[in-house]
Amino acid sequence: MPSWIDGSDGSGFGIENLPLGIFETDDAPRPGVAIGASIVDLSTLIRERLIDDETLLDARSLNAFLGHGPGAWRSLRATLQRLLGDTATQDEREAVMRALVSRSAAVMMMPIEVGDYVDFYSGIEHATNAGKILRPGTEPLQPNYRYVPIGYHGRASSVVVSGTSIRRPHGQRKAPDAPAPDFGPTELLDIELEMAWVAGPGNKLGESIPADAVRDHVYGYVLLNDWSARDIQAWEYVPLGPFLGKSFATSISPWLVSLDALEPFRVPNRVLDPEPLPHLRVRENYAYDIAFEVLLQTERMRAQNIAPAVISRTNFREMYWNVAQQLAHMTSNGSRVRAGDLFGTGTISGSEPGTYGSLLELSWRGAHPIALPSGETRTFLEDGDTIVLHGCAGSGPARVDFGEVRGTIIA
Ligand code: MN
Repeated sequence: MPSWIDGSDGSGFGIENLPLGIFETDDAPRPGVAIGASIVDLSTLIRERLIDDETLLDARSLNAFLGHGPGAWRSLRATLQRLLGDTATQDEREAVMRALVSRSAAVMMMPIEVGDYVDFYSGIEHATNAGKILRPGTEPLQPNYRYVPIGYHGRASSVVVSGTSIRRPHGQRKAPDAPAPDFGPTELLDIELEMAWVAGPGNKLGESIPADAVRDHVYGYVLLNDWSARDIQAWEYVPLGPFLGKSFATSISPWLVSLDALEPFRVPNRVLDPEPLPHLRVRENYAYDIAFEVLLQTERMRAQNIAPAVISRTNFREMYWNVAQQLAHMTSNGSRVRAGDLFGTGTISGSEPGTYGSLLELSWRGAHPIALPSGETRTFLEDGDTIVLHGCAGSGPARVDFGEVRGTIIA
């Protein structure tokens, strides 16, 4: 589908993508849509009466729009595809030109106000690796793993947008041979490569959402980095679960990519064994072919102008539990989902070395240091290190790019 916007076709941010975000210029945050190297300022198009959804006018988050549901989402997408497509009239093109802002001149903000944040654990290769590393000599997966899409409630107020620096957290750590824990900066600071889906209208307390109702309740996806302090986590997680080892920061990419944009990249669901309980069975496909790269740049690499190095490549398609099962499980007890709620998928790891989504796995808890082009090695993150996660659905000219989520560690 061609666009008249120069350079947008084949850029990953073409007319097939149209991700939504909140951008800022001149201290005025407002909603926009990425197209090529530009942002379409939606407030301008609303004032020009080319878009009739007033919930987006000068909005500081997308929550109200997300709450309007799939009718409003599809209407906006159809309008934008008409205005940016080759068949737009001269008047429409001139109005759009007045709404274009260069992406390089804008600062991206948090796209949503996160009310609740849940992080699932739906990558079975990651869960298996974590079990082998953390509980050696035992069955790596807990007996519930293939029945329950396991997750935990994270800290919504700690979710930050790409580009935010991450301060190394302090906490309690206890070495295996130490008689007691001490308190200090984490020595095992890690990443978790994840996707996250963002909820739309939601449900009433006490009502559950059936698995195949995803399209009525989920707007789309962002990239997510679930920063993790492994030493703090290991000491605190028994018997309850992740808390301060996770809650210091979670980063997301700024552009929210819709399920409609991802439609061409759906692939068959993973075959689950055993078959899930009836409320977790799905009729449609909810797996996606989305490829990821994890890149690392140390302070020395930055000083020597060495580009960030790819330390892992993996794909979203092999996750064990999908969005429909996560949504159905989450609401199966009648708990609520609200517009703007964020749901991490769990760490995305493949089955081969080099396809893992955490340093815990890539370095096998420090046993296999990762070699970098500067001659340095890494097991876990050091101060000054920058991590970039990049994701893209498909690879041809009609690919749909997520952009990146980036963060630098500060002492
Ligand atoms: Mn996680």
